[in-house]
Amino acid sequence: KMTEKIAVVTGGNKGIGYAIVKGLCERYDGTVYLTARDVARGKEAVKKLNDLGLKPLFHQLDINDQLSINTFKDHIKKTHSGIDILVNNAAIAFKNDATEPFSVQAKETVAVNYFSLLRVCNTLFPIIKQNGRVVNISSSAGHLSRIPSADLRKKLSDSSLTIENLSKLMDKFVSDAKEGKHQEEGWGNSAYVVSKVGCSALSIIQQREFDDEKPCRNISVNAVHPGYVDTDMTSHKGSLTIEQGAAAPLYLALEDHGLKGKYVWFDKQVVDW
Ligand code: NDP
Repeated sequence: KMTEKIAVVTGGNKGIGYAIVKGLCERYDGTVYLTARDVARGKEAVKKLNDLGLKPLFHQLDINDQLSINTFKDHIKKTHSGIDILVNNAAIAFKNDATEPFSVQAKETVAVNYFSLLRVCNTLFPIIKQNGRVVNISSSAGHLSRIPSADLRKKLSDSSLTIENLSKLMDKFVSDAKEGKHQEEGWGNSAYVVSKVGCSALSIIQQREFDDEKPCRNISVNAVHPGYVDTDMTSHKGSLTIEQGAAAPLYLALEDHGLKGKYVWFDKQVVDW
């Protein structure tokens, strides 16, 4: 039980997350958890993988729900010794033709893609094992250059930025959007961009905190742009297959790259954030 390796993927029922689970089942010498917020969709995905001869375990996990995350954590603690690989894949994006007001899109997108990501990390990081790996699925939209304001870019990339202050910046975007002044405040016009820049910035701070912790668990945290992938999120306009989209996340999760706190592209190259 203590030496058994455990990998966990959020939002594993479809899209890139599903392909990451599939790749882990094929390549990882350990137990792989496909998690999903919806039990029926999750179990259906497990069945599809079973038909391919692959055997992930299923557990419900809604990243928006602290109770759900706690229940999952307790299950892992009880059943196994901890987590070796955590792939934070689950996220949302409003479609271009969505009718919700921008203020609503801003609040929901940042709530899921930044604050729920942070909630999962805060809850599960204590049970990540020595030499563990965290892969945060960001996006090309999570590149710092996507934020128009130089002042905001400076704040977001400050090497002494704390998670608390990053969260305050994310909250400020949401309140600026509510007042209709997000553009004049320099955030641009995409809630998804802000949420994914938040994900990228968070990954860097998380790496710094892991490096500073004593005793140090030698955990790596990297953010990755999986490429433009044929999934529901892109309305199937992406040019990469889900397996191609899973390639860089699987590289970060499995291979001997030594990368820590990096922002990595779908071709596995480290990109200056
Ligand atoms: P999909 O929309 O196809 O899949 C998203 C997954 O996240 C689904 O399993 C969905 O579950 C899950 N999810 C959403 N909210 C929650 C929640 N609260 N709790 C648990 N799971 C949740 O998207 P993709 O596969 O395309 O995207 C995967 C990741 O890749 C995302 O982080 C996305 O931002 C990123 N990305 C994707 C790109 C692309 O071209 N596709 C490009 C760049 C980044 P459910 O089925 O229940 O909704």
